[in-house]
Amino acid sequence: PQNEPPVGRLAPSPTGAQHLGNARTYILAWLSIRSRGGRVVLRIEDIDSPRVKPWAVQQAIDDLAWLGLDWDEGPDIGGPHPPYIQTQRIDRYSAILDRLRDQELLYPCACTRKDIEEAASAPHEAHDGPVYPDTCAGWRVGDSLPESGHFCWRFRSRRQRVSFVDRVAGPQSKVPHAELGDFPVTRKTGEAAYQLAVVADDIAMGITEVCRGDDLLSSTFRQIDLFDALGHPLPQFVHVPLVVGSDGRRLAKRHGDTRLSYFRERGARPESIVGWALWSAGLIESWQPIQPQEFVESFDLDALAAGETIVAPEDYEKIIDAS
Ligand code: GLU
Repeated sequence: PQNEPPVGRLAPSPTGAQHLGNARTYILAWLSIRSRGGRVVLRIEDIDSPRVKPWAVQQAIDDLAWLGLDWDEGPDIGGPHPPYIQTQRIDRYSAILDRLRDQELLYPCACTRKDIEEAASAPHEAHDGPVYPDTCAGWRVGDSLPESGHFCWRFRSRRQRVSFVDRVAGPQSKVPHAELGDFPVTRKTGEAAYQLAVVADDIAMGITEVCRGDDLLSSTFRQIDLFDALGHPLPQFVHVPLVVGSDGRRLAKRHGDTRLSYFRERGARPESIVGWALWSAGLIESWQPIQPQEFVESFDLDALAAGETIVAPEDYEKIIDAS
């Protein structure tokens, strides 16, 4: 129902330290929900095991709390405000995989990355990888399986056009099978892959608004396919522009140390970071320290500046000095 308070989520991936860019996205996601009296769920996306750093889990939780962002209980967990941890939820992902297999929407794929690159012809957006060339798509239920540990399960993506209107990025439209290709819903280890875990969790947690960086827009088409296959209504998608370094590339190590934990160590106040985030997003006119809670009433997603924001080393110093 339209007038129920929204439910949103903060979904850090503990593959490394959270940085200024992540902070801005969390602040916007939190304000978007809190400004309408909604609930916020914290979910630690730690299923990408080869890349997950165990220390980064608690650090992400500490970073969010330090910034002044809080979260609520979810519908299917007890206890006082625990975060959801994806590695503790794998049984749920298996159940969803079974459902999709029963619907004959999955097939086993033994291709290596190299196989795919060699067979793919269509040009592709670098961060999405090549469109899967359907090498293994001929598999049918009843056919034999490749050797265990050597295949992932891939989802048969839609051949019809999919369109949706993003709250910030506006109208979006793609033909998933042609433009993005069939995508893995497990790893070769059998572990659920990102796309599957996100949708399984967004459904289980009753998420009605997904606010995240616009680098995930193409993932959204894959996730819409999964929501539809599982017969679940779509959340409102809100893809916000990223923070980039002075070279226009997304914030990374080469832009210097932008870890929140590093700002904390240097004595920066969280209010300075929140102030920078709101100012850089065009939501306040001058850069001033502010707590997220103080901005809940004034927050207006429509006022968000379009386009990426550049953050430079001078800004890092200003954040520290303002503290
Ligand atoms: N865990 C993802 C990230 O940190 C975000 C996933 C999502 O918001 O759906 O990039």
